Amino acid sequence: MKIFHGSCHCGQVRFAADIDLGAGTIRCNCSICAKLRLWSAIVKPEAFKLLAGESELSQYQFLGKTEQHLFCRHCGVRPFGIGHSPRWGKFYAVNLACLDDVTPEELSDAPITWLDGKNDNWYTPPRQVRQL
Ligand SMILES: [Zn+2]
Repeated sequence: MKIFHGSCHCGQVRFAADIDLGAGTIRCNCSICAKLRLWSAIVKPEAFKLLAGESELSQYQFLGKTEQHLFCRHCGVRPFGIGHSPRWGKFYAVNLACLDDVTPEELSDAPITWLDGKNDNWYTPPRQVRQL
């Protein structure tokens, strides 16, 4: 476990999150992960702290609206989302691309779990992942 700090592009939204990158990260082929090319770490709510910019966040939801996709209304970057699933309970999905103090080595060493969200088939990885 290590505390990482992250932000949106313009810096108005800032957060800290306790992340164990060695425990795995998430890539997914669902409609929004694919369009955003999201690479996330899943953390418990108590491991996430919004440090600045709550009033700068806009929320996007779709389908079952179980997830809040939060993005900065100034720069459009989505630093994290908040969701709920049978697998993780309530969770924060931290956008690893928004971490400011992670090293390239830490990121490249982080194991990736591939999710087939496109087919709502969460426990078997999709057959094709290179394009994600
Ligand atoms: Zn911003």
